[in-house]
Amino acid sequence: MRVEMLTVGLFQSNSFIVSCEKTNEAIVVDACDEADRILGYIESEKLDVKMIVNTHSHIDHVTALPKVKSALGVPVVMHEKELELYKGIPQQAAMFGITAPELVEIDRFVEGGDRISFGTCSCEVVETPGHSPGGITLLFRDESPPRAFVGDVLFEGSIGRTDLPGSDQSQMITTLREVIMKLPDDMVVYSGHGRETTIGLEKQTNPFLLELRG
Ligand SMILES: [Zn+2]
Ligand SMILES: [Zn+2]
Repeated sequence: MRVEMLTVGLFQSNSFIVSCEKTNEAIVVDACDEADRILGYIESEKLDVKMIVNTHSHIDHVTALPKVKSALGVPVVMHEKELELYKGIPQQAAMFGITAPELVEIDRFVEGGDRISFGTCSCEVVETPGHSPGGITLLFRDESPPRAFVGDVLFEGSIGRTDLPGSDQSQMITTLREVIMKLPDDMVVYSGHGRETTIGLEKQTNPFLLELRG
């Protein structure tokens, strides 16, 4: 499995293109912004993208959706509980004083326990609400090392905000305690912002996780 991380846009959000080295089939995780960079990588690597998966639908993770979706002609997938937040993109844009991106049709909903496969790669969808109501994490447990795409739930040294539209602090604590803290230490974490990290490193150094460990 290959992971390309592109840090894009005003909010320096991470878009990921995850591809199967054997078949060149791929998915896009969060078409955040700068559609041309995302499409440029896909074109240069001659990838066969199967879908765009949204970890969640805050404005900084969905701005490139219209252009990337129409260029690739692939379905867009998210958790149904993110739909209301997504429809509220114009209000989110107004909050930040920026132009609202166009909305696209959401083609498929996923929930915890579903699997997403492309080529010989396969991940499990895990529900990780708190930063947003229907936030999902994609777990590639079979890769070595195993990998997680967590959206804005966990960052290197920090966690996602819970003061945004659709956030819920008690859900966030449950997500961190019941999902994130139970992931294996060697799992590589790809966050919606900032550098990649590992679960083990965060358990040892992230003040929010240290506090939960007590
Ligand atoms: Zn977010
Ligand atoms: Zn974000």
